[in-house]
Amino acid sequence: MSAIVLDGNRIATEIRMEVAEEVRSLSAAGLKPGLAVILAGNNPASEVYVRGKVKSSKEVGLYSEKHTPGHEVTTEELLELVSDLNRRDEIDGVLVQLPLPPQVDSKRVLLAVDPAKDVDGFHPLNVGLLSTQRPRLVPCTPLGVMEMLRRSGVEIAGQNAVVVGRSDIVGKPMAMLLINANATVTVCHSKTRDLAGVCRRADLLVAALGRAAMVRRDFVRTGATVIDVGINRVSDAEAFHRLFPNNPQREETFRTKGSVLVGDVHPEVAEVAGRITPVPGGVGPLTIAMLMSNTVRAAKLRRLNRAPELSRA
Ligand code: NDP
Repeated sequence: MSAIVLDGNRIATEIRMEVAEEVRSLSAAGLKPGLAVILAGNNPASEVYVRGKVKSSKEVGLYSEKHTPGHEVTTEELLELVSDLNRRDEIDGVLVQLPLPPQVDSKRVLLAVDPAKDVDGFHPLNVGLLSTQRPRLVPCTPLGVMEMLRRSGVEIAGQNAVVVGRSDIVGKPMAMLLINANATVTVCHSKTRDLAGVCRRADLLVAALGRAAMVRRDFVRTGATVIDVGINRVSDAEAFHRLFPNNPQREETFRTKGSVLVGDVHPEVAEVAGRITPVPGGVGPLTIAMLMSNTVRAAKLRRLNRAPELSRA
């Protein structure tokens, strides 16, 4: 048996087209949603992510701008920039790309983002609204996972869901969304005893631990749905060949790029799972699509003063 592959690229395209349509009608009514991205310093991975976010914003018709203070930027300077963006009415979303340079107090900067413009959903006010079942702006990656599950017809209510990882960005909000959707949720972390045994109880397993291919066949109940959030780069040739012994397509990528992206789930899991998300091309594309969606949602909530029920979260 081989698992059904849930195609994140296809679902993300679908969402982006819906967002673009919404942006068109809002813009026609004189409201063009706007996103400001702050990229401080010169972290190469962050540069790639921000480029993707700005490109996607343009594609769906959002107004977007990028602020790139240098590596030496201070907390005070960033606070001033955030406060300026908070004040500007045409900016609906303020996204601070992490990590910030080491001298910056990241928590203070994130807390300074107006909760109404917090399109990453990291502000404690938005965290609190999610955990009290009144979601307003929800972190993009777990929100993308929920969209993927819904659009793929995966049953959530009453299912045993296991989330591996308890970060504020992925694991915790993921667990909260699943609880709100009536799953029975277990959250695992690095101190969990018998991780494989706990995971085997899952009808729905979400791996967000940041450990390349750690979730093996014996973690997965036959037929379970497995969502792989992890993005890990493997550049060691031996490790690569162990993971993908007969895979000409990956072999080609490895040869040309010197590395491949690998999830937290081992490729062998596809032989036992019922449904699985690939890496790349699974959860990743959904994250950016949900950022676009969150920006439109923030624009509508703030500028049209509509009720939260209007959107999909
Ligand atoms: P963090 O490092 O913040 O959190 C990792 C979590 O996994 C922690 O709770 C940690 O436990 C747990 N963990 C680590 N090792 C183990 C282990 N051996 N056994 C059990 N639990 C373990 O990572 P993030 O949540 O930010 O990201 C997780 C993964 O998702 C990464 O690969 C990241 O690159 C990827 N990611 C992908 C995105 C996408 O768009 N697809 C977006 C964001 C992240 P403890 O708390 O005890 O330390």
